[in-house]
Amino acid sequence: RYEQNAELLKRLSESSQFYQQQLTQHPDKKKATDYLSKDRGLSGQIAKVFGLGYAPPGWDNLFKKVGTRAESQEQLFLGGMLIEKKDQPGHYYDRFRDRIIFPIRDSRGRVIAFGGRAFGDEKPKYLNSPETPVFQKSQELYGLFEAKQNTPVLDQIIVVEGYMDVIVLAQHGITNAVATLGTSVNSQHIRKLFKLVSKVVLCFDGDKAGRAAAIRGLEASLPVMQDEKQVRFLFLPEGEDPDSLVRKEGKEAFNHRLEDASSLSHVLFDHARNQVTLGDEEGEAQFARNAMEMIRDIPKELTFRSVLIRQLSDQSGIDSETLSNTVFKARRQYT
Ligand code: ATP
Ligand code: MN
Ligand code: MN
Ligand code: MN
Repeated sequence: RYEQNAELLKRLSESSQFYQQQLTQHPDKKKATDYLSKDRGLSGQIAKVFGLGYAPPGWDNLFKKVGTRAESQEQLFLGGMLIEKKDQPGHYYDRFRDRIIFPIRDSRGRVIAFGGRAFGDEKPKYLNSPETPVFQKSQELYGLFEAKQNTPVLDQIIVVEGYMDVIVLAQHGITNAVATLGTSVNSQHIRKLFKLVSKVVLCFDGDKAGRAAAIRGLEASLPVMQDEKQVRFLFLPEGEDPDSLVRKEGKEAFNHRLEDASSLSHVLFDHARNQVTLGDEEGEAQFARNAMEMIRDIPKELTFRSVLIRQLSDQSGIDSETLSNTVFKARRQYT
């Protein structure tokens, strides 16, 4: 895949260099450097580690610099950096304009896409590269390369929502965070992380969307769970994200929160309980069914699965065998 796309990757790398240069050389670079240092509290050093850049306003800055030949224009278009003019086929303009640029690297460090943040409240707040031959956003994790590079002993990875969360955590010495790219955590993400570490902590924003993302993360984890591997959940206070919280509380407090992160079973049983709408015995039965609905997604051979069924049995007073069988029958009626 990469050999075929060598030209494309070269143009993406040149684009990244161009945006980085603009951050240090553009006549209006102050707007960008002030945003990063004053508004977001980033050091120049961390900006370098993540290769942050500046896409100045204007329709053809990148085009004129990197797209000087027809072949490079074609590659830039293929890589999502240029957009074709509607009324002039074969003519292009820059996708990223007047934004802070976050290069997205694959796990080997090659730039495969970009994210761009608006300076103010312009919409969209974040603009990302479209899917391209080298960028499938549901498979990539922002910051994974940097985490591997900069974490002395990588035994745990924290999954957060945003670019800024990854970078600000790293600036505070928590270098093992990665972000999904505007999609929710999926099973592929978890499988990929389990190849590198045995502990994954899902840590989303302290808002409704973040809590919903945690539940999707729970569901995505179940089918790829392995014995000896852990997924835990860190729920943040209302209104906070990892960026805001680590700046407010510091590294130590954030690390304490990480140590206290909820276990998968805790979140699973809590969720099963929260979905109960009935009272009394009917509610208890509903709880048991809700929990089994999730537990049955865990591979059959795992000890972890048996342990959860045993726990559920203790909590509900229904014996383990009945638990497994009841749900099995109930499901068959619907399929
Ligand atoms: P900031 O702190 O810069 O305001 P954030 O990371 O806290 O940003 P959220 O609104 O929490 O922003 O969104 C989390 C992540 O979701 C972003 O980092 C980005 O990857 C993605 N995202 C947010 N808004 C958009 C959007 N309009 N289009 C595409 N992706 C987006
Ligand atoms: Mn949010
Ligand atoms: Mn956020
Ligand atoms: Mn934020």
